[in-house]
Amino acid sequence: MTVASNLGFPRIGARRELKSALEQFWAGTLDETGLQDVAATLRGKHWRKQASTPISHIPSGDFSLYDHVLDTACMLGAIPAGYGWSEGPVSLGTYFALARGEAGHAHGHGSGLPALEMTKWFDTNYHYLVPLLSAGQHFTLTVNRPLAQVKESMAAGLRTRPVLLGPVSFLLLSKTTDGSDPIDLLARLLPVYASILAELAVAGVPWVQMDEPALALDLTQKAQAAFALAYGTLARSPAPDILLASYFGGLGANLPTAMKLPVAGVHLDLVRGAADLPDVLAALPAETWLSLGLVDGRNVWRTDLRAALHTLQSVARARGARALMVAPSCSLLHVPMDLTQETKLAPELRGWLAFACQKLGEIATLARGLDEGAAAIAAELEASDAAVASRRASSAVHRAEVAARLAGMTPAQAARAPYPVRRVAQQARLNLPAFPTTTIGSFPQTGEVRKARAARARLEITEAQYEAGMKALIAEAVRWQEALGLDVLVHGEFERNDMVKYFGEQLSGFAFTQHGWVQSYGSRCVAPPIIWGDVFRPAPMTVHWAAYAQSLTERPMKGMLTGPVTLLQWSFVRNDVPRDVVCRQIALAIRDEVADLEAAGIPVIQVDEPAFREGLPLRQADWALYLAWAVACFRLATGVAGDGTAIHTHMCYSAFNDIMPAIADMDADAISIETTRSRMELLDAFAGTAAPYPAEIGPGVWDIHSPRVPSVAEMADLLGLARQRLQDWQIWVNPDCGLKTRAWGEVRPAMENLVAAAREMRRTLAHT
Ligand code: GLN
Ligand code: ZN
Repeated sequence: MTVASNLGFPRIGARRELKSALEQFWAGTLDETGLQDVAATLRGKHWRKQASTPISHIPSGDFSLYDHVLDTACMLGAIPAGYGWSEGPVSLGTYFALARGEAGHAHGHGSGLPALEMTKWFDTNYHYLVPLLSAGQHFTLTVNRPLAQVKESMAAGLRTRPVLLGPVSFLLLSKTTDGSDPIDLLARLLPVYASILAELAVAGVPWVQMDEPALALDLTQKAQAAFALAYGTLARSPAPDILLASYFGGLGANLPTAMKLPVAGVHLDLVRGAADLPDVLAALPAETWLSLGLVDGRNVWRTDLRAALHTLQSVARARGARALMVAPSCSLLHVPMDLTQETKLAPELRGWLAFACQKLGEIATLARGLDEGAAAIAAELEASDAAVASRRASSAVHRAEVAARLAGMTPAQAARAPYPVRRVAQQARLNLPAFPTTTIGSFPQTGEVRKARAARARLEITEAQYEAGMKALIAEAVRWQEALGLDVLVHGEFERNDMVKYFGEQLSGFAFTQHGWVQSYGSRCVAPPIIWGDVFRPAPMTVHWAAYAQSLTERPMKGMLTGPVTLLQWSFVRNDVPRDVVCRQIALAIRDEVADLEAAGIPVIQVDEPAFREGLPLRQADWALYLAWAVACFRLATGVAGDGTAIHTHMCYSAFNDIMPAIADMDADAISIETTRSRMELLDAFAGTAAPYPAEIGPGVWDIHSPRVPSVAEMADLLGLARQRLQDWQIWVNPDCGLKTRAWGEVRPAMENLVAAAREMRRTLAHT
């Protein structure tokens, strides 16, 4: 019998129950028992839901109160000193201190404990906590988490398949305090994994899922050898059958290594790694189980069941023996939980979607179809065919005018005059001093601001009242910036709930869900928009506000837009056309906005691309292609601007070294970046003697993630460090990022200090 299998289920709950419970626990209004009760209830509900689908290999241990990598580190006793743990089970106090830091600690200042570093889980929008190890690291089994959860499911009358983060991926995702290679710790780590597996075997657990997503990365020889050592070692001690799960991409060059590992089964991501299938079929031993990840765990679209069944049947024929599992491509952690909650989506679009619960239904159907024949799932196949056909034929999805416009774009339309020419025109127009000052766009989103937007959404105030309220906020912000003596002003972004949503809501081709939450980190969830059709801009989106702001002042106003790559990257993207085509369509929509802002007399336009770097593919061989189209999209969006209009961009949380040529190729007139915490080290990439960045740069001098107000001297000091790396004419003075999360009580003094620091720099120029 084909096994219908799942690799992981969303944790947060259909109504974000876990989020509420965590926040109550942190606020002290729910005790530990209360929190654990909510968690256990969610696990039980989710297991029963999967069992009734029916899924026969239901994961356990995929649940987490905060993050599964942190859970793994805690289970292995990999806890840095100072967090209140010495041996045995890890308390919730220690756990959350590692996850979130402890009171008194504000980003490197003050007492208390810092949180572990957090970073993106492969190329998803989920963030994990980076285990912190050291060369002499001692590992010990604090508590057998998967075993505890298997027992919990057994008590509920259900059999589950425990999930563990595999030892090699665990180490590759870790950092050390001393610069030693975490992989060198493998021999110390394996005995702990062996104990976990032995205890599971004793408890009669037949299968365990070992997640090794690192197999989708470029691996060194050493890392490949680590796989052989790890699984060779584990195969020699008692253990359940191991299903080795790779996902987020093909195995690529790691395929021969993976195929030789002595495991009972291998899972493949066939959504992203379909090209591996022939090689896997040729190399995989006949008795090894093959888990086929045919249902997309990273996106919200319904599976083409007929195509998937066809693949399944051909694999079954090729392998003769069955030993097959059907599964999602990866854990369903990355998709929303249940489409049935969405009552407001257009019915047509809704018919094309599948969230976690629906995807499990597809998996069960496919398993049945393979075992009993296509006729047994005829109704499901028919419904799937109908969805595929209606999506393909939909005139709301495919708009000839969008395709025609894109096809008609020439390279010249994406190119501007050379930067030196533009600089002359912009200097003449803007007449800025040396070290010009500006902000990144947003001002504090106060209760008043949010209330005004909410009242409008609930139709409690008229459009005219909302308009007047926003204009009053803008006018106040402009007056304040003038009094402060800023050189380039902004309107403050008060009308924006979110930098993607604000634009998505006004663009054709985007849709929004009511409950489409996906975990970003800990209790934080995001509800990404769904890009489902050809994108275009029916009407201007920001011009009204920017033009109003400009009408209030003689000083240059900066128009603020979210860039095409960021809009793409932070959405669920349609899968019926290539990603780059979707991005180019968005770029054209933004291009229209740039043109209209320029026509409205806005002399500086900032196109934010904070997600530019995170779009980089997992494998380096794929980088060039991505960077080429990502850069092309930025240029398509901004290339319409005349010489005298300054195009700025902004990126934060970015490491630039490996993408510097692409950043320069974007051909912006200025880029602002986050440099305070690294004390300008990031600028080394921009100052590189081989190809120094050719245009202007605003290295942030205020860490806006902290409530602390930096002094004039601190900011002047940072500017001094910037001047060691850049030419004076290149330097803008600005905070690290937007100020929406800060309070005016912090923004006012900090910006006063920032302007004073810039003036101090100007005085030093006058003296030389
Ligand atoms: N313009 C945006 C702001 O100021 C930029 C936000 C970001 O970089 N994430 O809020
Ligand atoms: Zn930013």
